[in-house]
Amino acid sequence: MKRGSMSVAVAAGLLAAVLPAIAFGQKSVPVDAQVHLDAAKTLAAKLTAKLNRPIRACNASMADRPTLDERDGPIVKDRMTGTAPLKVFDDVYYVGLPGVGTYVIKTSEGLVLIDSLYNKANIQNILIPSFKTLGLDPKDIKHIFITHGHGDHDGGAQYLRDTYGAHVYLSDEDYALPRNKNNSPDWGPKPTRDQVLKDGEVLKVGDRTFTFVKVPGHTPGMMAIIFPVTVDGVPHIAANWTGGLPNQVKAAQAFADSVAKFKMVTAKAHADIAISDHAGSDLKLLADYAKAPPGTKHPLVIGEENYQDLLTLSGECANAMVSLLKAKAK
Ligand SMILES: [Zn+2]
Repeated sequence: MKRGSMSVAVAAGLLAAVLPAIAFGQKSVPVDAQVHLDAAKTLAAKLTAKLNRPIRACNASMADRPTLDERDGPIVKDRMTGTAPLKVFDDVYYVGLPGVGTYVIKTSEGLVLIDSLYNKANIQNILIPSFKTLGLDPKDIKHIFITHGHGDHDGGAQYLRDTYGAHVYLSDEDYALPRNKNNSPDWGPKPTRDQVLKDGEVLKVGDRTFTFVKVPGHTPGMMAIIFPVTVDGVPHIAANWTGGLPNQVKAAQAFADSVAKFKMVTAKAHADIAISDHAGSDLKLLADYAKAPPGTKHPLVIGEENYQDLLTLSGECANAMVSLLKAKAK
């Protein structure tokens, strides 16, 4: 594998959209927040029509959600039941749970994983059987790129490293992100420090190239990953952004700034595919696509313009969040 720095920007990612639980307290929504919320609504409607599937906007009650840690804590359903592995692109597979997964990418120098599920039990009970189904050998896992240091993404990494000798990659900031009492007991141990991902870094693994873009907000060292893929031999650029909008002012502002940065990088890279390790409704689209007749349009190839609009939508929600949180604090 070769390490370099980013010359051609690549990137992608998307927005774990923003699902409100309760109303925005008793306060009125500030005008600047409403402007962003309206812009998000307009974009969501446009994208819903163009992509022919529901694309969520955001609303003021998102500022009242529990913090990310609290949300990650008590939710335990579906953490042990795997979903059938899915082919995503040529030589790229989704393996894991309905709620979170790992992308498995074949290269001429072995397998690359993006993220590592929750824990050892997920690896033994879900990843390994899925590998058997796909005809893959876990001993071929060479590199595990972790998007960020939350345990639903990095919790299986240490076991994979110890068992198969795979190298683990995470940003400096997210190696340092501690587990705490609010975290889910399902989260496996923090991986010990191995390889460090840097902003703008390009890693070449055999015939595949991965570009890493630091997009702080969800965590301080969150990494988006851009990589070329093919669909039936036709080249595209996929962008993986995994991790939703936080509801603390500083982090939400960082998220908004990261979206603006990533828009520039992905535009230059011509990203036309958005993926996330929280694949959500993409799993159904992929399962349907697997059964569709040859020549059916791939559901995740959305085109560069729609990709940029998705990021803009995410940025509008982040900016609305900042304004709402500032108003709440007054
Ligand atoms: Zn997370």
